[in-house]
Amino acid sequence: MSAVNHPEENRQREKIALLSRSLYERGLTAGSSGNISVRLEDGWLLTPTNACLGELDPARIAKLDWEGRHLAGDPPSKEAFLHRSMYEERSVAGAIVHLHSTHSAAVSCMSGLDHANCIPPLTPYFVMKIGRLPLIPYFRPGDQALAGAIRGLASKHSAVLLSNHGPVVSGSNLEAAIYASEELEETAKLFLLLRNTPTQCLNAEQIAELKSVFKLDF
Ligand code: ZN
Repeated sequence: MSAVNHPEENRQREKIALLSRSLYERGLTAGSSGNISVRLEDGWLLTPTNACLGELDPARIAKLDWEGRHLAGDPPSKEAFLHRSMYEERSVAGAIVHLHSTHSAAVSCMSGLDHANCIPPLTPYFVMKIGRLPLIPYFRPGDQALAGAIRGLASKHSAVLLSNHGPVVSGSNLEAAIYASEELEETAKLFLLLRNTPTQCLNAEQIAELKSVFKLDF
């Protein structure tokens, strides 16, 4: 795999390492948790298993094909199937970010959430970047049945929250997926801060206006 033969792939490898490090340094992911992927013309890139997002080697990021075969780099994250099931349902997804970010993970552990939309429309930015956020039931780590649960929702939602785990967020490219993940984490923080405060969310009319003006597809 040389830079001459695969300039776009190498550019994406560098970008994953750079932006992953930024997420790690700002405390959005800890230890070896979290994984990030990018769609390529001839497969997809995924951060390796047991890798710390703070110190990825671009050349060792895993490359897979659409059958899940490992083509290059270190062995891929064990959560590869989360990404694959989302890509299969969302042709518009160019990148996927899965973090165990603290506030989003905290919300994923709360009882009494609305499973169709587990964080209310507190700000227009959340509505614009995430839309509705469905909650997926708990599955033990590695349970492939989780892929089916994601597949059922991914065609209509760019992001989902895994119960007692964390968010899976897609975007048209890596920056978009990362910015949406950060917006989700900040809104989860607001949601937790406001839990015991009477709160005014955006109403149906305000959400309809955002959907119309910004051509939102949820
Ligand atoms: Zn995870």
